[in-house]
Amino acid sequence: MKEMNLEENSSRKLQDSQAEANGDSHRISSSRFSSLLASKDRDYLLSQDGTQVKVSDLEGKVLGLYFSANWYAPCRSFTTQVLIGAYQDLKSNGSNFEIVFVSSDEDLDAFNTYRANMPWLSIPFSDLETKKALNNKFDVEAIPCLVILQPKDSKDEATLHDGVELLDRFGVQAFPFTKERLEELKLEEKEKHERQTLNNLLTNHNRDYLLGHPAPRQVPVASLVGKTIGLYFSSQWCLPGEKFTPKLISIYQKIKQMLVHKGNEDDFEIVFVSSDRDQAEFDSYFNSMPWLALPFGDPAIKTLAKHFDVKGIPCLVILGPDGKTVSKHGRNLINLYQENAYPFTEAQVDLLEKQMDEEAKSLPRSKNHAGHRHELTLVSEGTGGGPFICCDCDEQGSGWAYQCLECGYEVHPKCVRAVDRGSVRG
Ligand SMILES: [Zn+2]
Ligand SMILES: [Zn+2]
Repeated sequence: MKEMNLEENSSRKLQDSQAEANGDSHRISSSRFSSLLASKDRDYLLSQDGTQVKVSDLEGKVLGLYFSANWYAPCRSFTTQVLIGAYQDLKSNGSNFEIVFVSSDEDLDAFNTYRANMPWLSIPFSDLETKKALNNKFDVEAIPCLVILQPKDSKDEATLHDGVELLDRFGVQAFPFTKERLEELKLEEKEKHERQTLNNLLTNHNRDYLLGHPAPRQVPVASLVGKTIGLYFSSQWCLPGEKFTPKLISIYQKIKQMLVHKGNEDDFEIVFVSSDRDQAEFDSYFNSMPWLALPFGDPAIKTLAKHFDVKGIPCLVILGPDGKTVSKHGRNLINLYQENAYPFTEAQVDLLEKQMDEEAKSLPRSKNHAGHRHELTLVSEGTGGGPFICCDCDEQGSGWAYQCLECGYEVHPKCVRAVDRGSVRG
């Protein structure tokens, strides 16, 4: 009996290798995933409940290799907030898709805890060699990382490394993650932005107004058409917002004053797009703001964040009088130019950059700053500067800056504070 089995096995093996040599595509794709995911003494993966699933069962599927670890919060949140839902959607509509978890967990317990939430397959924790080989092969430098492999692509020509970004941006629409599909989606997105109007951004069939002060005042979205609008994505629990919101309020008021002089005070408005956690938090935050807001929890909030690809808050998106996007970097422009940034157009920014270059000519080449013990040197993008975070106000900057050449400390020119003469050494 035993001998017969052996013989059977060896003859099957021979057939397999002949099939490969003959270029049989099924065999090749199966061996493609096997060579990646199986080892010399393991031809299976673990399912969520711990049962073994043959690697060969993945044949013909679009495969996501999910590099992730329980100890890292961005991994956990991508797993629970994006990937599980996407996976379940794709499975329930019969898509030919599978995910294999490649763990960077520190120990078996952490791996098992993490994996217990995952409805897909995993490489056993003990197989360090296979995990290491996959990390190397796909050049995984940061997690979470989702590498997508196409079934009949033995040369990895269609492999995508940015599955995490693609799912964040397009959701399950990105399936089957081919280059053609992504081109289609990008085109759709572009057309959507070209069709963008204030009305289709800010209203839905249940609501055609925004909230104003005092509550419960309602302001029709239609009354904002033709104005420059800032969409302010923020929330009370967001730390950088604590510093930026008061600044934005004061600059908002300065822009309004500037416009009063020109007789068109109503040409500018800001709309708060809240990601606060509850109504009370929203109410208290919105009460501190002089502008309008979308109602707490409104479905438009998620849609807007997705539409403008908002990655972090606070974020200020500027819309022009025609409802089209003028800038997604309103926060940066406010920090750099304050009220002069208005109306945030490219032409205005060009003008301000030229002015700044002109003014920088009259700035001293070096300065002492009360917040730093070394002397600071004036740098521009061309001379060692570039985008930076100001060490004094914690906001972004670009272009001209005062930088400590010794330790990289960098501040906006406007943030340099004179040193009290008595304390200057030497
Ligand atoms: Zn600063
Ligand atoms: Zn220094």
